[in-house]
Amino acid sequence: MSGTVYLVGAGPGAPDLLTLRAARLLARADIVFHDALVHPETLALAERAVKVAVGKRSGKLSTAQRFINKQLIDAAHKYQIVVRLKGGDPMLFGRAQEEIDALVEARITLEIVPGISAAFAASAELQCSLTRRALARSVVFATPREAAGSKQNEWAKAAAAADTAVLYMAAGEAEHVSAALMANGVPASRAVVIVENASDTTRKVIATTVGELPAAAQGVGDGPALVMVGEVYADVQAAINAEVFPLSLLPSCKTA
Ligand code: SAH
Repeated sequence: MSGTVYLVGAGPGAPDLLTLRAARLLARADIVFHDALVHPETLALAERAVKVAVGKRSGKLSTAQRFINKQLIDAAHKYQIVVRLKGGDPMLFGRAQEEIDALVEARITLEIVPGISAAFAASAELQCSLTRRALARSVVFATPREAAGSKQNEWAKAAAAADTAVLYMAAGEAEHVSAALMANGVPASRAVVIVENASDTTRKVIATTVGELPAAAQGVGDGPALVMVGEVYADVQAAINAEVFPLSLLPSCKTA
């Protein structure tokens, strides 16, 4: 009899943006495999668990996906409750499908616990809705990050067609992102907001435009960041310029 593997969303960073289901599972977990971005307070909820970092941040310490899959399967043969804790929601840019497929193939029982994705934490902090009546009724989550076999720049076509586009893993390739969006018909003047470390006290907000994105992205630090594109963000830009609530309360948003 093998145990159950739970793919659990850890949320965007702040430890209190975790679901109750996730917190209860962590308290019961025998072993937790976690990403580099998971907050120490969240990990501390797993009082009795063995903790294994399988952090994947591009350019930094990484564990090959196939090895992670094998670790999960081996752990399920040894423990009852195995938690695989992933930043944000596991089903969005979290390589969940590789793990699901490997576990299903190994006939391991599996459950998935959703989490708050970075896009929702960033939107909450900006107090700017992803959708808006009469202005934005489509949202695309996309990434310019390429994997072997992916079609080049297909992401940009989708992002350009949406009213609001939230780009993950994009701040580090701002030049390419800006050029690809404009090549797909997005005007250089379209508003952009970069949100770094959403939900954390170290958050940073930079308001810019598609055309000026490469220069603005120089201001992004080491933290994870989203590039959010759309007319809805023109208000954020205006609020920063006018120094009005709520953005003036964000300490670093005037760096734009
Ligand atoms: N599954 C995660 C995304 C993983 S991909 C989710 O649902 O949020 C990693 C990317 O997510 C980072 O490169 C960055 O673009 C984004 N990200 C994760 N946490 C973030 C945060 N606190 N603030 C801003 N962006 C974040």
